[in-house]
Amino acid sequence: MAEDKIIRTEEEWKRLLTPEEYRVLREKGTEPPGSGELYHNTERGTYMCRACGAELFKSDAKYDSGSGWPSFWQAVDPSKIATETDTSHGMLRKEILCARCGSHLGHVFDDGPKETTGQRFCVNSMSLKFKKE
Ligand code: FE
Repeated sequence: MAEDKIIRTEEEWKRLLTPEEYRVLREKGTEPPGSGELYHNTERGTYMCRACGAELFKSDAKYDSGSGWPSFWQAVDPSKIATETDTSHGMLRKEILCARCGSHLGHVFDDGPKETTGQRFCVNSMSLKFKKE
């Protein structure tokens, strides 16, 4: 929903986020694989955008992809996730962003679990905060 969108200047985001959060969420950075605090999290609950708090993923759809980043086979709702073509680093990838605030989440690939959607939402732990059920 357009009226739900959060628009902030980069100066405001800098004030609201830590330098590491800013680098990943606003400058499309990537945390080192395996470093994220939520990578191995198996508790039941909801994963929210760390920048704006939008609910993005549920623990039911989280799985261990072995990639080093929290991985999900679907979002809470497709409308929560925006995508952009990313051609950086000599690769063609689909970037995923929080549809509400435009912050960078990670990328989506089509090598997810075949028995589910077949998609792999590969998300920086730094882009998420977890709310336990
Ligand atoms: Fe957000």
